[in-house]
This record gives sequence, C-alpha cells and structure tokens, in this order.
Amino acid sequence: MAVQREPDGPIVYGDPEVIGGLAIGSAAFDEAFAYEGNDLGCTYSGERSVFKLWAPTASEALLLLYRSWTGEPDEVVSMERGERGVWSAAVERDLNGRFYTYRVRLGEQWNEAPDPYARAVGVNGDRSAILDLRDTDPEGWSKEKPPFSGEAVDAIIYEAHVRDLTIHPNSGVRQQGKFAGLSESGTRGPHEIPTGLDHIAALGVTHVQLLPVFDYSTESVDETRLDTPQYNWGYDPKTYNVPEGSYATDPYDPATRIRELKQLVQTLHSRGLRVVLDVVFNHVYDGYRASLAKLVPGYYLRRKPDGSLSDGSGCGNDTASERIMMRRFLVDSVAYWAEEYGIDGFRFDLMGLHDVKTMQTVRERLDQIDPTILVIGEGWDLETELPHEERAAQHNAARLPRIGQFNDSLRDAAKGSIFAPDGRGFVSGQPGLEEAVRTGVAGAIHYDDERQGFAEEPGQTVQFVECHDNHTLWDKLTLSAPDASEDELRSMHRLATAIVLTSQGTSFLHAGQEFLRTKNGCGNSYNQPDEVNRLDWERAYKYRDDVLYVIELIALRREHPAFRLRSAAEIRDHLRFEQAPDGCVAYTLRGHAGGDRAKLLYVLYHARRGGATELELPGIGSWSVRFGGEHVRGLEGTRLTAEGIGLIVLTAD
Ligand code: CA
Repeated sequence: MAVQREPDGPIVYGDPEVIGGLAIGSAAFDEAFAYEGNDLGCTYSGERSVFKLWAPTASEALLLLYRSWTGEPDEVVSMERGERGVWSAAVERDLNGRFYTYRVRLGEQWNEAPDPYARAVGVNGDRSAILDLRDTDPEGWSKEKPPFSGEAVDAIIYEAHVRDLTIHPNSGVRQQGKFAGLSESGTRGPHEIPTGLDHIAALGVTHVQLLPVFDYSTESVDETRLDTPQYNWGYDPKTYNVPEGSYATDPYDPATRIRELKQLVQTLHSRGLRVVLDVVFNHVYDGYRASLAKLVPGYYLRRKPDGSLSDGSGCGNDTASERIMMRRFLVDSVAYWAEEYGIDGFRFDLMGLHDVKTMQTVRERLDQIDPTILVIGEGWDLETELPHEERAAQHNAARLPRIGQFNDSLRDAAKGSIFAPDGRGFVSGQPGLEEAVRTGVAGAIHYDDERQGFAEEPGQTVQFVECHDNHTLWDKLTLSAPDASEDELRSMHRLATAIVLTSQGTSFLHAGQEFLRTKNGCGNSYNQPDEVNRLDWERAYKYRDDVLYVIELIALRREHPAFRLRSAAEIRDHLRFEQAPDGCVAYTLRGHAGGDRAKLLYVLYHARRGGATELELPGIGSWSVRFGGEHVRGLEGTRLTAEGIGLIVLTAD
C-alpha cells in the first residue's frame, strides 16, 4: 500500500491551522467555507476555460499553464478569490491540449499541485490536462447497459485486475495488460480455450469488478518506465477522476487512457457484463504529497488528538469523509464515473473508515442517476478517528440500506480464518462451524435467535470465499489440509464456491477461482511480479472441468430465484434448516420461494470425508436430483445417501 514518507522540502502542514479564528476541519470552518457549486476543476469550451479551486486557507493562488507534461510553465495566471475560499481564473481562448497545475500561498510557503478535480492528466498524473471530453468518446459511444434488475441479490460479481487477465504470454491477447487487451474478443489460449473477455463472458456472471483503475501512485507503477517489470494492485490513489496510465496504450496522451477505459466499459456492456469500479477514498497515496493535502493542508485528513495522522487504513492517512468538502469530493467523483463512463457499481475499499452519512449520500446520489447501480464495500470496523457509531461498517448496516457489505464470517467459516493460514474451515473438515455456515447461508440476516448476522436485508450481504486479498482459496486449502489428495482439495474448493453461489445475498467470485487460482502460497501479492498475479490460461485448460462446474453453478443460481430471495422476511418464510449430521449443512427452500418454478429445493453441503452419509429428507414431496448427482449414492423416498465432499441440490414439485 502507500508508503508514508516525510516531505522532501518544507510542506506547510500546520496543525491546527487557524484562519479567521476557525480551526481547519472544525464544524465552524465547514460552515464558513464549504462550497456547494459543482464547477470545481476546469470547465472547458473551445472559446474559454474556467478554473475553480477550493483553497480557503490560501492567501494567493496561481494557475500555471504548460505546453507539455514536462518543462516550465509558459504562462502564469493570477486567480481571484471569491466566496467561500474558491479561487477562479478564466482564460478566453482554446486551451485544448494544454496542461496545468495550481500554486497556492499558505503563510510564507508556496505549494504546487495538480488539480484534485482534474478529469485528464499527463503521464504519471503530475500535471492536469485540458481537453474536450467529447473527443475521448470511443466510436459509437453508448452508455446503454445490459439489463439488470437492480436487486443486489441478482448480481454475480467477478473481481479482476486489468493486468492479471491478459498479461500472461499464453493469453493470446495482443494488447497484454491493457484496457485495450481486455476489450479484445475472440482471443484464444492453450488448446484453443477462450481467454480474457471471452472467458469471462462464458461464465454467466453479471458484473465485472475491476481493481482500482483510477490513476494511482508513481511509486507503485511509474508510467514512464512501462518497459520495465512493475506491478501493483493500485490501492494508492493519486488522481481520483482519471484512469490509470499504465493500462493505456499511451500514458502520455491524456485522451488515450480515457478513451480506452470507455471503450472497455462499452465492450463489457456489449457482452452482457456490467462494470463495478473499486474505489479507494479512505486514504491518499501520500499524506504529505497528495494534491488535496498540499492545496488545503490539514483539511482532508483525519488527525489524532496528538496531531499525528489517523491510521485505520494501515496506509497512514485516513481521509476525513465526515468533513463537508471531503464528502462532496467523494460523492462527486463517484457520480462522475457513473455519468461520464457509464459505470454500474462501486466497491468501497475499507468502507468502515467512512462515516455513515457519506455512504448514505453516495447511495442517494447514485439513485438519482440510476437506481440499478450497485454499492458494496468492506464494512470492517477499524480504529480510525471517527466515533464507532458513525462508521459505515457492519454494525451500522441498519443505517446503510441498499449497500452491500462483505461477509467475512461466512468466508472464514467456509474455508478457515484468513488470519491463521493453517486453520481449517467447514469444507476442509473443521468441526463446529455448521452454525456459522447456516447464518451465512441465510444472508447474514437476523434469521432467528440462534442465527443472527449483521444484515437487515440479504442485499446487504456480499458472499465470498476468495478475493484479491489473502491467500487464494486453493492456496488456503493446500496450506491448511496438507493431508488431502488433490482430488479432495478440488472437492473442497468446489464446495466452498458452491456455498457462495447458493447462499442468499450477492455472489462474489475472484478471477481464476473457477480454475483453482494459485499465487503459489503468496498471501499478499499487491506488489508481486506478474508471475505471481497473472491468470495462467494453461491452468484454465488443465482445470477446465472445474471451470465448467462453476458455469453450471452460476446457471443453477440464475435459474432458481429461490437462491436470490429479495427480503429477510422471505428468507425467514421460505428457508428452513433441516436435520443433518456434523460436517453437513442441509436446508430446504419451500413454497416456490421467490417465484421459483420448483415448489421445493433441498440443498446439502456435504463436507464429510470418507464413507457415505445417510440423510432423512422431509416427507413433503417426491425428490429428484437437480445438481451434484456425482455425490448421490442413493435416493429412495425420503432416504438420501450422499458421498464425497460436495453440493447436492434436489427438487420436488
Ligand atoms: Ca499512475
């Protein structure tokens, strides 16, 4: 993640800076200076460009214009201070193709920074760029979206890193590691298997979630050195409203990265896939060098009582979303991505660091644009300088309707705790986790007195057993069940994925999970080389039966609305847990649940190794096998004999 360093030179950070008797970041300061206009940044037209910068603590402000991403400014324009500390300048000619920065005077110190509101930048985001956004629209630009109900429980999200998907030499993709590479159709890998976009489109998922694609730190990936090996997940934001340059075919030309990301969104849409962006507003890449911190020092970041920066993120500089202009910056950014790029969902990194009101405002703003836009986030309760009761975390789900939160409880119950690499879970034979699995299966709602999760409604729960963080599921199982054979490990892996795809709530898969993705035991690959992170299409071929299994699971989920019940009340009415021995979880979905054409579904997670298990089915119908027949040793009347680790689904009318 971002490395926190002291500044090279003197950067004014004064704490607490006081202006007109108002401490920066205080409620009184916000009352005096918070700005409501939606015209911050550069507003371009062919005749004039208007620049507006919120910098209430500055005593002077300059606009610096450049001919190139490098070199000295060729023009310096004094900005005028207006109401609420907004500085503005208008240049009455066509500035298309020029670059700019701001310089502000804070006490005796001058700080220079690119525009935090910039919508285009030069290489590495060091200078903001002026262009006509209409020139960045790809051919046939349309923001038409594939159909989606807007019910979060109908989403099956596939999380992927742009570079990982196509960078392997065996991907058969031309523009490897780029937005453009993921936009390629018809690509084939070893043994002619589909790769990249074609592979994803064949799975049946509804949403592709991209790890950060906004411009991230030069210290993670230097866009001027793309011919040398570099890799990063990108959780170190530099320019929030601009795509990352290393995924573009030309990071120097400001329009290229924008056009190529729009092209990717359009292409994914045309293949029936909606697009979720992973957004990281909880910290900046560097609490001293980031534009926000340089232009209004002391405002955007939280501080502890002793003046040091709050560090709930582990990156050393939590942003202060509870302050009006930080909140507005965040909400405006999300709305911009939704409107300009046609983005269909947002995943908030460390959402628990944000305040409840900010996330409510995000949801309201996106609802005004398109209520089918998804909002999900990591609702971990972390130690940040924000009262516990204000954190947008699991314990506040009641105040965060229609915002999904990752369900770490089911993840850990299914495969074992992420904090103990050798710890086993339900699928790998750890006893005593059946209740935790049941609570998760019910969507982490308040199902009954024994089974209570964090969620009010199932749409608030994101079910997963693998994501970019921590060991992959395959590596976790390999580490924690060293006595298991490869076939047993594969069965455990399949069962864990099956639990995700049959549980109530939103389904979430990690790219490559469908072919037992491995990072060779690496538990945190954020800056590891391609060799660790890339999807290996030879492996996709080797485990093609497992890919097919996941395709069938996804089809099962999509075909049966009983797995996608829309409300907690429906779950309580229609889902009933059935008797089953240890190492098994069984339940029925009754009464055409969710409008399912099957009157009854019986679902069994069988995690017992060794011999067969006898189960008594409810005597309310005539059962037949819908899924997992390979595990059915016998089915007669109400007698089911199951064998081997896996999922069985029966139906009855
Ligand atoms: Ca960058």
